[in-house]
Amino acid sequence: MKSIESWHEEQFQSEMTSGVVEALGKGPDAATVARAVADCADAAEGFCVDRPCACAAGCPHCCVLNVAVLLPEAMTIALWLRQKLPGAELAELQKRLATHRSWARWMDDEERILKRMSCPLLDAHGGCSVHPVRPLACRAITSLDSQSCSEAFFPVVTDEDRLVPADLFRKAVFDTAFTALASGLRLVGLDDRSIELGTGVLAFLEHPELTERFLAGAKLPQALWQ
Ligand code: SF4
Repeated sequence: MKSIESWHEEQFQSEMTSGVVEALGKGPDAATVARAVADCADAAEGFCVDRPCACAAGCPHCCVLNVAVLLPEAMTIALWLRQKLPGAELAELQKRLATHRSWARWMDDEERILKRMSCPLLDAHGGCSVHPVRPLACRAITSLDSQSCSEAFFPVVTDEDRLVPADLFRKAVFDTAFTALASGLRLVGLDDRSIELGTGVLAFLEHPELTERFLAGAKLPQALWQ
């Protein structure tokens, strides 16, 4: 485990970007991309192990917020789901993702909370069904008080500030990992845009050819962002 004292944002970002460029610079395949994404998450986690955290499996309160992912993150989650889920379950999940997209795509966080538009990747027990490959943005958010989460994400209109004490160091580390991954993608000529989590995962599930398109350095269709 690395300590908070050894954290230097610029150095971390620069080393991680270099690692992404080295990994993806020679015409990557999907497995190499997935490994590069995992390496970014692991490197960030290395600074955050054993930090205080009230989050636990089955606590789904914050899994209602908008999540932005980089395209390789969405691609990796889609590939992982394809390998893991039987056909019928995958088809069911695709339906849930499509329904969620049609309802929630233009909602801000407040509206999502009010309408309980939880992430379609939550499982029946309130756990993250893609936990091993979950997005950097999800890894960035941790609470220090689960009761505050329960109150903050309760679907009611209020003028009161509903604050959740969070680990801001962890957020800074994972936000930097996200930026470094995006920089690396840009430097090797891959599409470095972010996309709403469900929209991105659904796109790669419904259109497997987008994986080849992304790996070839082409831009994904603009319609995905509309
Ligand atoms: S991907 Fe997992 S952790 Fe992230 S919002 Fe969805 S269920 Fe929650």
